[in-house]
This record gives sequence, C-alpha cells and structure tokens, in this order.
Amino acid sequence: MDSRLEAIRDTVLSRNPGEAEFHQAVTEVFESLGPVHDRHPELLEAAILERLCEPERQIIFRVPWTDDSGRVQINRGFRVEFSSALGPYKGGLRFHPSVYLGIVKFLGFEQIFKNALTGMPIGGGKGGSDFDPRGRSDAEVMRFCQSFMTELYRHIGEYTDVPAGDIGVGGREIGYLFGQYKRITNRYESGVLTGKGISWGGSLVRPEATGFGTVIFTEEMLKTRGQSFDGQRVVVSGSGNVAINAIAKAQTLGATVVACSDSGGYIVDEGGIDVALLREVKEVERARLTEYASRRSGVAYVEGGSVWEVDATVALPCATQNELDGDAAATLVRNGLIAVGEGANMPSTRDAVSVFQDAKILFGPGKAANAGGVATSALEMQQNASRDSWTFEHTEARLTEIMVGIHDRCAATADEYGDPGNYVLGANIGGFVKVADAMLAQGLI
Ligand code: NDP
Repeated sequence: MDSRLEAIRDTVLSRNPGEAEFHQAVTEVFESLGPVHDRHPELLEAAILERLCEPERQIIFRVPWTDDSGRVQINRGFRVEFSSALGPYKGGLRFHPSVYLGIVKFLGFEQIFKNALTGMPIGGGKGGSDFDPRGRSDAEVMRFCQSFMTELYRHIGEYTDVPAGDIGVGGREIGYLFGQYKRITNRYESGVLTGKGISWGGSLVRPEATGFGTVIFTEEMLKTRGQSFDGQRVVVSGSGNVAINAIAKAQTLGATVVACSDSGGYIVDEGGIDVALLREVKEVERARLTEYASRRSGVAYVEGGSVWEVDATVALPCATQNELDGDAAATLVRNGLIAVGEGANMPSTRDAVSVFQDAKILFGPGKAANAGGVATSALEMQQNASRDSWTFEHTEARLTEIMVGIHDRCAATADEYGDPGNYVLGANIGGFVKVADAMLAQGLI
C-alpha cells in the first residue's frame, strides 16, 4: 500500500477499534488507490479519504418488542449514513445475529463505491439489527419490524435515506416496515423504501436483480476470454435471494449449477438445481436444504463442510462475508476454476482474492458484480417518482445495460491504470473517483 494512504488507514483503524470487517473493507479499497493520489494530489489536501471513512451520521438504537409468549425482547438497531455525495443514502437493512457496528460500517463503506459505479444518483448507507428472524413467527417478525421502524422513520425519507433488504430482510420485512412508516407519518411515500411488493409500489425484477446482475457481470468477464456461461459447471454458495436468482440466470444462459448451500450444509445435484423446487423450499416454506434433498432423487446433502470442495469452472459466492478463504480458493483453482463473480458482499477473504488474482482467474468483486440489486432499487425509485411501473422486459433490459456498463467501466479503468483485467482495481478506482469529484465540488462538508 502507498505509504501516504497507509498512514491514513492506520488512523482509521485506531479510531474504529474492534471493527474487523470495516478494517478489511477499508484496507482493500486503500490498496487500490495509490495511483489515483499520484495523479491527483489535491485529493490528499482535501482529506477525501479521511472524510469518506468517517460516516456522515451513525444511529444506534434500542428495539424493544414482545415475542409470542409475551416475553420482552431487546435488540439493537443500526443505520449508518455514510456518504450523500451522489444522492440520498441508499443501502439495505440486514437482520442477522452477527450484526454489529463493524459489519454495518463495512457494508456501508462498500456501498458508497458500488452505488457510484451504477451511475445512478444514490449515496451510500447501510443498517440492520442483531435480530434473528429465523424460527420466528410472522407475528413476531411484524412486531419487531414495527418497533424498528418506530425509531428509524425519523431518519429516513425519499430525499434523505432509502433503505432496502439484505440478509434476513426480504419482501415480508419490507412490507411490515413500510406499513409502520406509513402509519407513523401518515404519508404514502413510496420512495422511502425499495424492494416493495409489486402491487404497492415495487419494481418488477427487483427481487431477481442482484443474482441476475451478478451473472450478467460474470458473463461479460467471460466474454473477454471468448467464453460464456454456456456449458459451465457452476457452484453457488447460499440459497437466499441472491443465490436463487443467480442460479436461475446462470441456468438460463446454459450453465449447470450443481451445488448450493445454507448455513447448515450444502447440496450436490449433478443434474442441475431445480429452481422451482428450491424456491418452494426456501422462499415459500422457509425450510432447510435438507428438505430439497429429501424431495429430489440423486441429490446428496453434505452437513457442514464447504461447498467450495465441489469442483466447478465458475464460482458464485452469494451467502455472506469471508465465506471463501485462501484454502478454499486454492482448492477451486486446482479443480479447474476460470471465473468468480461475487454476489455477496466481501465473501472472499483477502487471501482468497490473492489466490485468484495470482492464478489469473477472472474475479468480479462484489461492489461491482452485485450492484444490480441497488441499481434496480434506483429504478424502483425512478418509477415511484414518476408514478409509473415498467414491464419486466424493459426493467431487465435496463438492468442488463447497467451491469454491462459497470463491467466496461471497471475494465476500462483497470486498463487506464495499467493493470488490465484487474476488476478489483477498476471497481475501487472507478467508484472512488466519482465520489471524490462530487466531494471536491461540494466543498468541505
Ligand atoms: P438471504 O437472507 O436471502 O440469504 C442469505 C443466504 O446466505 C442464506 O442461504 C443463508 O443461510 C446464508 N448465510 C447467511 N449468513 C450466513 C453465515 N454467517 N454462514 C453461512 N451461511 C450464511 O440474503 P441475500 O441473498 O439477500 O444476501 C446474500 C448476500 O448478498 C449478502 O452478502 C448480502 O449483503 C449480499 N447482497 C444482497 C443484495 C440483495 O439485493 N438482497 C444486494 C447486494 C448484495 P441460512 O438461511 O441458513 O442462514
């Protein structure tokens, strides 16, 4: 890392102790930015990096609610409004027991650059809670969401901060959150949340967008080497929103997806995953992958273990941060891997990224490859603002155009900075330059 940036990074780390994921995300971005500061020393004088690493606002709040037996439960809620240089804060809410400030800040920091890469007018933010929706009844999830929104509502708004879903927050949760926002404010403000249901202000393609977009980005990377998804053997981690839609899109393009996982284990289905059955099990019944294995012949279920042990030519990590380490990366490379598209945020550890890059594997980092979700959220905001709703075909065409644009911008930036094919460098510099320009123009705020 450039020594000037290393000094700034060290200060950021010491000002934010105990936030390992935030430290990792900051370090990874700083490692790419030395050459930009050589060309533009004015960025150092304006302390752009120091400002970017300090969120504009951080909100931490108590979320009290009662479970079905009447017992009082207390969770912690977060919203980190990182950067409004390019538009209202935009980023999802994550409900998972692992959530703490360091995770929300890593996600919010990544979101700034991701959102810049989309070319849409959206700033960066993220939020969530250590609430675990798994095993909770609909009524408990509703009471939790209502309590969460009872505090959050005063901080958000269509021109201020526009949350969406992430791990543990899907259509059901967005519905309860929107209902409570409307009730408190007495305003039908569609643009305050994205990921809404289609009949009440949502956008077609939003549920599919992150997974679809990841596959579209990966397909563009494959094309640079004269290849495509057609005929590839694909392994996906996770079996939530992003994973399921990545599987669906990859198979539409002619790939066979042979494995996916949840936090309990993974399935291997050599015939190609049956997407309709997977949706039924995970989205409708909210059941485990064991259920998929029990209903389809020829499927192996492996409890625990790593899905990355299954050989593949394309890997799509779509579960969570740091789920693919250096050893797993080395195994994948030995087994014939040619490309990785990150559907999740920061799923590959820094060691894993080095293994992929050393082996000249096509590697699409999450902040570029999974930007289709937030881009389609911005399309949802556009439809809400004009009180319009677009067809599936039109919205999917816009998503494809945006993903191809992000790919090309990352590739062109990597070329410009002398490291062709390095999408990590391309994404970090491409996103940063846009935000930095806006910050310089807007003065010291
Ligand atoms: P979901 O909650 O729908 O699914 C998450 C999946 O990952 C589940 O299969 C879950 O398994 C698994 N998982 C989650 N945490 C862990 C863990 N600690 N260990 C092992 N497995 C885990 O979330 P999404 O699909 O929405 O999100 C997945 C990833 O994509 C996240 O990194 C998210 O930040 C990122 N992302 C999501 C976007 C979106 O639009 N939803 C947009 C951009 C990025 P189990 O059910 O067993 O917990």
